Amino acid sequence: MSKIIGIDLGTTNSCMAILEGGQSIIIPNAEGSRTTPSVVAFQENGQRLVGEIARRQAAVNPQYTIFSIKRDMGSHRKISIQGKLYTPQEISAIILQKLKQDAEAYLGEPITEAVITVPAYFTDAQRQATKDAGTIAGLNVQRIINEPTAASLAFGVDKENQPQKIMVYDLGGGTFDVSVLDINNGVIEVLATAGNNHLGGDDFDACLADYLAKEFQKQYKYDIRQDAAAWQRVKEAAEKAKCELSGLQQTTVYLPYLVNGPKGPLHLQTTVTTALFNRLTAHLVEATIKPVRQAMSDAGLQPKDLSKVLLVGGSTRIPAVQKAVADYAGKAPFKGVNPDECVAMGAALQGGVLSGALTAGGKSLLLLDVTPYSLGVETVGGVFSVIIPRNTTLPTKQSQIYTTAAPFQSSVEIHVLQGESPQSQYNKTLGKFRLNGIRRALAGIPQIEVTFDIDVDGIVHVSAKDLHTGQQQQITITASQQMTPKQLAAAKADLQKHSR
Ligand code: AMP
Repeated sequence: MSKIIGIDLGTTNSCMAILEGGQSIIIPNAEGSRTTPSVVAFQENGQRLVGEIARRQAAVNPQYTIFSIKRDMGSHRKISIQGKLYTPQEISAIILQKLKQDAEAYLGEPITEAVITVPAYFTDAQRQATKDAGTIAGLNVQRIINEPTAASLAFGVDKENQPQKIMVYDLGGGTFDVSVLDINNGVIEVLATAGNNHLGGDDFDACLADYLAKEFQKQYKYDIRQDAAAWQRVKEAAEKAKCELSGLQQTTVYLPYLVNGPKGPLHLQTTVTTALFNRLTAHLVEATIKPVRQAMSDAGLQPKDLSKVLLVGGSTRIPAVQKAVADYAGKAPFKGVNPDECVAMGAALQGGVLSGALTAGGKSLLLLDVTPYSLGVETVGGVFSVIIPRNTTLPTKQSQIYTTAAPFQSSVEIHVLQGESPQSQYNKTLGKFRLNGIRRALAGIPQIEVTFDIDVDGIVHVSAKDLHTGQQQQITITASQQMTPKQLAAAKADLQKHSR
């Protein structure tokens, strides 16, 4: 088996790592960067661009530049490019293929195995879509693991002897996630998770860019937002200034020759202080604390119960974010691992565990994750009957016995759902199947055993069996957007056609 690389397939940026001599190291991409923007662009001549080069040309090719595809994973959305429809997993596969090729060039050997991380709240369909993206890119996805679990591995908290509860606060470019974990004896369990899928560093950039546009308008009576290319430069300058303000008290945004005014070129020049930046973005920092409280309350914990807070995601470099987290938790965040890199590093460590290269104190490391939603079936009157409650540790297998509602009913439909409402109609359908050949009997006599089996990747298998006749039917929950093996093979062949 080839080495197993760890991949953090992020909404904004992706990152990869590998285990070398018992240590997780980051694999730089072909451009020499340690993270790769999760951006794919299709050019008119059919050429595909991935990463920084795709991001840079976004302003001139907005229609065919795809950002944040992770948000669509597991959905039915199709992306139409030059007359061809792409699934989100095919777009993600283009990013994974670049990472794979760059890793191969850097390591000088073929890479076929990977551990890929996903947010803890990802549903079964989203996990399956991520696995499929790996398959299309020519990677055997050895394991899908939760991002906060990977981060805690990278911080080495699993190696400490005493049991502890920790919080992982993850503020990336476009998303915010917070998870509360229990760590005990090398076992990591996600107790609760919350977040906001549309809150991240991009929003901080937007606040600052808006401020710059207003200043420009005050000075020159010109709305820079009307000019796509100039506005793109302002947004990029805002991000750069934001990053500088993580280390400085003030910075100057200077964009010469931004647009042509009636009397010649107009330049943008403004000084931004940390105090001003904090005022412009205070509501965003505050918005992260509500999910923090939610996750802590779901986990049944108080801030004083936390032994550590880990910061993940590039946006946790913002001092005001660090202060807000420290104020809530009553302690400074635990430092030591780069926030943009720790998830990939943890994934590489998990790869090491799977390949047998890494053990914890002689015994192999265990990783436990939990189901983010309750799972069950619909029963009479649309009532949702829970078989596996939310936050159950994976892998798990549980059964319940149901019966028929009508006399001599020969078949039942098993409607599999996830969610927290007692009424099925408010939960999400994962799949449906029919069990035929039920023994002829009055209502309430047949015994139908429904079993849910969730594997280590969080993928759900459901079976129903008539205990009298032995008739059985089963499905692996694959929301209908899942790709068949044939579709996967076709997508893989198509991707290879476009490979370098
Ligand atoms: P991630 O999705 O974890 O790669 O985080 C990307 C986000 O982190 C982007 O919005 C970046 O602008 C932001 N970021 C990276 N470095 C810094 C920094 N030094 N200060 C503030 N934000 C940063």
